[in-house]
Amino acid sequence: MRQKSSMATIVIDHKLCKKCGICAVFCPKKIYSFSALDGLKVVKEKECTACDMCVIMCPDFAIKILKEKV
Ligand code: SF4
Ligand code: SF4
Repeated sequence: MRQKSSMATIVIDHKLCKKCGICAVFCPKKIYSFSALDGLKVVKEKECTACDMCVIMCPDFAIKILKEKV
């Protein structure tokens, strides 16, 4: 899944993601929504600041943040 944002492209490898929700808990901008019913979704991708917190916290190395070149 690739989601375009103003500062970054969020890439989640759903083959690696085990839907634990940790990324949603630790993202300071609340870019993700997570529930047992709906799973993980990127809901505010344009507000991603490319801080890499979700990448660091994901235990399954399922997230990549591709920074925009400015
Ligand atoms: S890089 Fe930072 S702001 Fe962007 S989704 Fe991950 S934790 Fe949230
Ligand atoms: S932290 Fe990683 S494994 Fe857990 S829901 Fe987020 S992307 Fe999936």
